[in-house]
Amino acid sequence: MPAPDPHEQGLDPWALPIRDLGLAIAGSPLEPILEEFNAELSRVGIHRVRPRFYLSTEWGVCEGTVAIAIPFYLARPDLMALHADRIGHVEGVGRADVLRYLRHEMGHVVNYAHELFKTDEWVELFGSMDQPYREEFRVEPFSRRFVRHLPGWYAQKHPDEDWSETFAVWMTPGIDWHADYVDGPEALAKLQYCDRTMTALADRDPVVTAEALHQDVSELDFSVREFYRSQSFEPDPFPAGLDVALRSIFEDLGGPEASLTTAPRKLTSGLITRLERDLVADVYRWTGHVPERTRPLLKHLAERAEQMALVYPEPNETAAVVALTTLVTTVAMNLVLQRNPA
Ligand SMILES: [Zn+2]
Repeated sequence: MPAPDPHEQGLDPWALPIRDLGLAIAGSPLEPILEEFNAELSRVGIHRVRPRFYLSTEWGVCEGTVAIAIPFYLARPDLMALHADRIGHVEGVGRADVLRYLRHEMGHVVNYAHELFKTDEWVELFGSMDQPYREEFRVEPFSRRFVRHLPGWYAQKHPDEDWSETFAVWMTPGIDWHADYVDGPEALAKLQYCDRTMTALADRDPVVTAEALHQDVSELDFSVREFYRSQSFEPDPFPAGLDVALRSIFEDLGGPEASLTTAPRKLTSGLITRLERDLVADVYRWTGHVPERTRPLLKHLAERAEQMALVYPEPNETAAVVALTTLVTTVAMNLVLQRNPA
């Protein structure tokens, strides 16, 4: 990406190259969380593999390294707020959520450091690393074959993610995974393998210790503004019948009984806009329909509701929230299954 013209930068920080924003882990809200995470590693007996942490554009570990990339926007509250506004979903909101992502990424680190993926037992349990990596995939909600850690049935994405999610569950303090997966023998077998393997590796030096960084924050020569421009998604065609669906919900809510009430009417479009933040996150959690796709869907529904002048009596707001949430979830689940046929 080309560097922005300095004459056009003015005082707008979002027009400066990200590398010039002075972002660092030291002194940021991430620093104490990483200290806590290192202590957690010691508690589960991981002493020989210590990841290096660095700021980049997204969470990740490059294959063949032990360096964990953390999104740069988590280093400063104003950038996090901007990310929430632009993308509608932050991976790592607050301490508990950041720790959740770190445990997942640590799974990749352990996998690469000890080259577990080259062993027959790993391949038998999780599959081959050579399987194609798809950003979007057909989810099987509540599958007994996979553990659940990050939202969106993430373990089902690829064998490497399956392992990392398993590892994350294994290392999360306070989880009784034996009990949680008692009715999922395949997921349990993966956890037992992880437990056995981590005990065996406790005193073994890693095979791989490379810390090569990919897109370290010091190399990011594009601005925050350009970063978000590059994240835009090709929107899906919306399914047929959404107008009818919306009308039927709000005709029921404002039906004959409700018409007797003098309660103030509220705009459906405003409600959809207010629900956006929570709805994109929760829909992703249970359907795997990514926020980048749910947001345009919600914008479309809000626009249609406005054009059809849909309203509801204020006391019926809970019913309206339930109805909209159920509608959006169903549409999202169908889109995920249609886009990723079995
Ligand atoms: Zn991962």
